[in-house]
Amino acid sequence: MKALDELTFDNRFARLGDAFSTHVLPEPLDEPRLVVASNAAMALLDLDPAVAETPVFAELFGGHKLWAEAQPRAMVYSGHQFGGYTPQLGDGRGLLLGEVYNQAGEHWDLHLKGAGMTPYSRMGDGRAVLRSSIREFLASEALHALGIPSSRALCVIGSSTPVWREKQERGAMVLRLAPSHIRFGHFEYFYYTKKPEQQAELAEHVLNLHYPECREQPEPYLAMFREIVERNAEMIAKWQAYGFCHGVMNTDNMSILGITFDFGPFAFLDDFDAHFICNHSDHEGRYSFSNQVPIGQWNLSALAQALTPFISVDALKEALGLYLPLYQAHYLDLMRRRLGLTTAEDEDQQLVERLLKLMQNSGVDYTLFFRRLGDEPAALAVTRLRDDFVDMAGFDTWAERYTARVLRDGDYSEEQRRARMHAVNPLYILRNYLAQNAIAAAEQGDYSEVRRLHEVLSRPFEEQAGMEQYAQRPPDWGKHLEISCSS
Ligand code: AMP
Ligand code: MG
Repeated sequence: MKALDELTFDNRFARLGDAFSTHVLPEPLDEPRLVVASNAAMALLDLDPAVAETPVFAELFGGHKLWAEAQPRAMVYSGHQFGGYTPQLGDGRGLLLGEVYNQAGEHWDLHLKGAGMTPYSRMGDGRAVLRSSIREFLASEALHALGIPSSRALCVIGSSTPVWREKQERGAMVLRLAPSHIRFGHFEYFYYTKKPEQQAELAEHVLNLHYPECREQPEPYLAMFREIVERNAEMIAKWQAYGFCHGVMNTDNMSILGITFDFGPFAFLDDFDAHFICNHSDHEGRYSFSNQVPIGQWNLSALAQALTPFISVDALKEALGLYLPLYQAHYLDLMRRRLGLTTAEDEDQQLVERLLKLMQNSGVDYTLFFRRLGDEPAALAVTRLRDDFVDMAGFDTWAERYTARVLRDGDYSEEQRRARMHAVNPLYILRNYLAQNAIAAAEQGDYSEVRRLHEVLSRPFEEQAGMEQYAQRPPDWGKHLEISCSS
């Protein structure tokens, strides 16, 4: 266990120099205070969880203090936003403080979001509000607990600094951790600004530090791109299987590591709705729930375009062709497991599709359905669940096929089935209204609800005593909360 001043830095990205990032100091928040910290994320830095409660912790992550070895940098990148290319973006309100390596030899970027203006702030104020910082914190840690690759969050620091959005709010900072903060948009920036030397340097950097095994392949860059395609296919399959809607899948928000990244107006589905649009500003539904799958491929094509100086177009196309089949295989595998199946049959895909259609038509709660399906033997579970469906006859037909399929799957005990299904079907997910309740209390200075919700979501598959209220369908007010990009 380390104290805060014992972290070991090795700032590899900063060393790439001024063509890649700009030195900027964090702008401190007034009266910084700890809102919430993640012990699991603290462990990634070998930090003693007790240090979160010390005043110096809030000073460090509220922008007042810096380690001598930290080198705060704002990164430059660009990206396709809602399908159109924006030539220059960059860290407009976040700073890469430095890279820390832990006792296991892993490197973690320390990125402070909400740290003030940078050369890339454009029209923005460089700040993040408490509301959006809490949402990012909870989402990163909740996704990780569900087994969905994501950036992590160490803490949220609140303050008394006023920040204007639609109304006056308070500034906050979230300390984000990831093995890298390099995005698809980094490659696009150097490609479209026609800086081949820097682009080659960036590609070498990513290959050496994040895809070293691809060095062994005959075409290392192509192997790296294939791996990125595979990781994205798997990540998006997990989003779809668990009902996660990212909301702003611009290429500047896509991590080169295939992890969920840059949380804005995201949501987990309550009722199953394939057409759900979580971003209030996404009028055309470009990033609707079901569109996430083709958009994943669109984004990879944008990255492929930026990699044409290193890889032939034919090879890039071939690699892109892997995306959909890989996505489908991962998705089907996860959905089979969610249904409690251990074997594969051709008709399983249809079984899943029919179920989702029935759920869509009746507005069935996506998370609770699967959890309850595993509570009891299949034949009994479906008789209890049928009341949730408007088209009961349709559900009965499905249920008959499902129970027959379960019988063919294998002969296992009720306990085995429950344990296996509960291990993949969460009881607790980050519903918008739960986040909203925690935010409302935090805005009044009461952080107990954020902390409790974080605790509950860190063990989503485990039924926790006294936490029934976190495993309910949302109340009516909580179903249609409007979440916009203004964070
Ligand atoms: P996002 O939609 O959060 O991914 O942000 C898109 C771009 O806008 C990024 O370059 C951000 O750094 C920048 N940005 C977002 N909000 C702010 C803000 N309040 N101040 C400065 N830049 C911002
Ligand atoms: Mg972003």
